[in-house]
Amino acid sequence: MDDGMRQETTLRVKNKFSKQYRNGYPLITKEAIINGKDLKEEGVLVKLVDESNQFLGKGYYGNQNKGYGWIVTNNENEEFDTRFFVRKLQQALGKREFLLKDNSTTAYRLFNGEGDGIGGFTIEYFDGYLVINWYSEGIYTFKEEVLAAIGEVLDVKGIYEKKRFNTDGGTYVEDDDFVSGEKAPEPHLIKENDVNFAVYLNDGAMVGIFLDQREVRKTIRDKYAKGKTVLNTFSYTGAFSVYAALGGAAKTTSVDLANRSLPKTTEQFNVNGIDEKTQSILVEEVFHFFKYAKRKGLKYDMVIMDPPSFARSKKVTFRAAKDYTSLVSDAIAITEHDGIIVASTNCSTFGMDKFKGFIDQAFKDNKKKYKILEEFSLPSDFATIKQFKEGNYLKVVFVQMLG
Ligand code: SAH
Repeated sequence: MDDGMRQETTLRVKNKFSKQYRNGYPLITKEAIINGKDLKEEGVLVKLVDESNQFLGKGYYGNQNKGYGWIVTNNENEEFDTRFFVRKLQQALGKREFLLKDNSTTAYRLFNGEGDGIGGFTIEYFDGYLVINWYSEGIYTFKEEVLAAIGEVLDVKGIYEKKRFNTDGGTYVEDDDFVSGEKAPEPHLIKENDVNFAVYLNDGAMVGIFLDQREVRKTIRDKYAKGKTVLNTFSYTGAFSVYAALGGAAKTTSVDLANRSLPKTTEQFNVNGIDEKTQSILVEEVFHFFKYAKRKGLKYDMVIMDPPSFARSKKVTFRAAKDYTSLVSDAIAITEHDGIIVASTNCSTFGMDKFKGFIDQAFKDNKKKYKILEEFSLPSDFATIKQFKEGNYLKVVFVQMLG
């Protein structure tokens, strides 16, 4: 769509919120806006002004979680045309030059929404192919401009997309995700720190690997796995287990309740030359497994936990913000003396300090001492800005249980 044809709606910001927008806060929150009811069509341009009509920023309307969309410029005359997207993409590529040159890693995030100047969509690179994640109908109306900009800046074989919105917002739309170019093989093999991964670019919302844990996985392989028994809970396709096995772990055990996790984890071991029969892959409820392991007196040198922020199974509802302490307690019960717990969360509603508080509480409850060995947040290709702390959602802590 030609930018000149887009409607523009002026949104008035309540006084107590105008300062945050002046300081560069990018999300247009519902609570900050006086006349949200004036927003009609997703994708219209919006101009934010304060209660005295002073210009605060310009962006677009796109319903996403708590937001009405994103501010993308503080220049009142900016046009959201292909050239605008080209500039933002070029800046994003510049920040990632070290990854583009790195032959041991062929998959990473190329564009990270508001962290790269435009909230609402991300682009990931999987060795020759792109996957665009669209988080609102509003940003999706800019698809043509984004694709044209990609065509100018990048040379790729093919492009896929994930529409992560529906009329209620937030959920993946089941669809054919192929957009243009040539189709990727299924599976498509990518490398991360010289480890192989089979990814499926056209098989639902998730492609088989979460790229934000790259540095955590490398650390487990290079510094901690050797000779250890490793339990990987909420294991999905077993990425942590593969790295641990390659790092010389005595044995890995992967636990996930999704049926797909067994063939998917088997495949990731196999594409790295590991016979899955030397490892253990269990399709099981994690909380049920913890009880079983405790009853049997099983212990592990390393316990990895990377649960979703929210998960409901038949028997248990898990909310990271409420239940993480109890999850750490479960892990403590089956960790060897001097063993290591890798606690990870992608929950954006609390920060690192609070997360460490949950962990601390669990050790206190169990009258155990511990030492923090490593801390991780998002890797640099998941670019974030200081004005939007929620964007830096990942928190990973390696804790050694003492005595
Ligand atoms: N740690 C993974 C990503 C985890 S995604 C990685 O490194 O790639 C979250 C996973 O948790 C999903 O695969 C889901 O099936 C699983 N899951 C959610 N609730 C669960 C539960 N109660 N028990 C076991 N697995 C669960």
